[in-house]
Amino acid sequence: MISDLTPTQFNDLAEILFPDVKEGVDAYEAKFPERNIDGAPVTRFCPSPTGVMHIGGVFAALISDRIAHAHPKGVFYLRIEDTDQGRKIEEAYDGIYSAMRSFDVQVNEGIDGKGSYGPYVQSERLDIYRAFTKELVRLGHAYPCFSTPEELDEIRKKQEALKLRPGYYGTWAVGRKNSFADITKNISEKKPYVIRLLSRGSDKNQRKYNDLIKGEITVTENDQDSVLIKSDGFPTYHLAHVVDDHLMKTTLVLRGDEWVSSLPLHLELFAAFGWSVPSYAHIAPILKQDGVGRRKLSKRKDPEAAVSYYVDQGYPTDAVIEYLLNIANSDFEPWRAANLILPNSKFPLRLEKMSKSGALFDLKKLDDVSKNIVGRMSADEVYQHVRVWSQTRDTELHDLFGKDEVYTRAVLNIERGGTTTRKDIGKWNDVREAVGYFFDDVYADLKSKLDIATTLPASVTVEQCKALLSEYAGVYDANLDKVTWFEKLKEFAGAHGFAKDTKEFKADPSKFKGSVGDIAMLLRLALTTKTKTPDLHETMKVMGVDRVSARLKGFIA
Ligand code: GLU
Repeated sequence: MISDLTPTQFNDLAEILFPDVKEGVDAYEAKFPERNIDGAPVTRFCPSPTGVMHIGGVFAALISDRIAHAHPKGVFYLRIEDTDQGRKIEEAYDGIYSAMRSFDVQVNEGIDGKGSYGPYVQSERLDIYRAFTKELVRLGHAYPCFSTPEELDEIRKKQEALKLRPGYYGTWAVGRKNSFADITKNISEKKPYVIRLLSRGSDKNQRKYNDLIKGEITVTENDQDSVLIKSDGFPTYHLAHVVDDHLMKTTLVLRGDEWVSSLPLHLELFAAFGWSVPSYAHIAPILKQDGVGRRKLSKRKDPEAAVSYYVDQGYPTDAVIEYLLNIANSDFEPWRAANLILPNSKFPLRLEKMSKSGALFDLKKLDDVSKNIVGRMSADEVYQHVRVWSQTRDTELHDLFGKDEVYTRAVLNIERGGTTTRKDIGKWNDVREAVGYFFDDVYADLKSKLDIATTLPASVTVEQCKALLSEYAGVYDANLDKVTWFEKLKEFAGAHGFAKDTKEFKADPSKFKGSVGDIAMLLRLALTTKTKTPDLHETMKVMGVDRVSARLKGFIA
């Protein structure tokens, strides 16, 4: 005997518990009709606004977006799950919306007033949950439970002592045994209560289901009388998401794999309502290498776990998206190499190719992906991005870039548009380091910090260097093409006791002070204060004769 209550008593109880619920479930079903989308997938992202957004959230949203939109009529919506009033944080709502916008996730509903299956915020759907819970009571699938925290604690202690499974199930679910008279008396005495599922399941039964990421999984049937409506009147995640996924016509639930263990409860709820069950794909957490082991990327320990990190560092959206696609499906990289100009939305993402145990997140790899993406951008695109990013994050750089737009764009255009890809910028936060020296104030500052004597090639002394640089300043001709310029540089090297190329130098090092490479290095160092920069010939051209001359002559005071 599951419960002593008769169907009529359940029916009466539904009215006593929910006298305010006027609209029946049929009315809600009518408000949320089937979608006319030719069987396309309907996916969703359902974050709880409990803190800063984790990059794993963008990952889950991206996967859901791409799976839905693999079909021309697919729908991907955003639903905010804020039924845990104790844990919600007001700023987190905007954090979720702005993450969806910054990362260009294609959200069809639930943002910017879009969608007709709303409200898309659970705290605005309380009437719906009450109506459906009333229906569950009426059907004899739920009941009010008056067990106090002390009584629940007592049950737990007894179970522990007997080495039994903890929980509110079977004979331990004492609230099931309340008579109709007891229940109505408690209600009239205004005793606090929760509404629990009246579980029909048994822990002796196993069930198989096919997870679209993890494959076939065997789970034990639910037998817990889980709480559906808490004493504050808010639903639990379990009830709310089942009702919403049904009404919003979700076909595929993509969510974190911490929910696998509650799946049996969710399956029981769908069955209690008599609804069809969506497909499931449980995503393993994003992992980070930590010494020899791997652990979850943690908001507490890893700055890169927070979505804001990528915005603050100035990673281009596409870089983050492509990196996430890369950890979702390892064949993204070869696909990208073979399809350089296609938008990444054309990549055929496959759930079954996702990691079952957790994809490894690696910032270095993200930087590589990002450098390639920035390398393929035009100078104008880079310029615009840096202007926007630096406005609030590096005002000095912002001013620098605003001073001489033509010069700045020329600086950014070095090694762009040709056959090689410029790879010194992966995020806008790299820009100051990568091109700052082109600007005279930054250059002066860098030079004042440079220990020239220890940075020069061993083949030259500071004195020799000074003479070489000022002599070269006199012969530098900005009108020469690259090949001729280099020929002249070799001649210059030869005339000063340096080998014209490395082969010549290696054949008999004793004959030379060094090679033309050393001369190029001196120029590079004097002009940029760096030992590694983009193409020297282009750099000098962009700097212009006057700046080149001034820097070469003034490098050593
Ligand atoms: N609100 C749940 C969470 O943040 C969502 C799980 C789901 O997508 O159903 O984990």
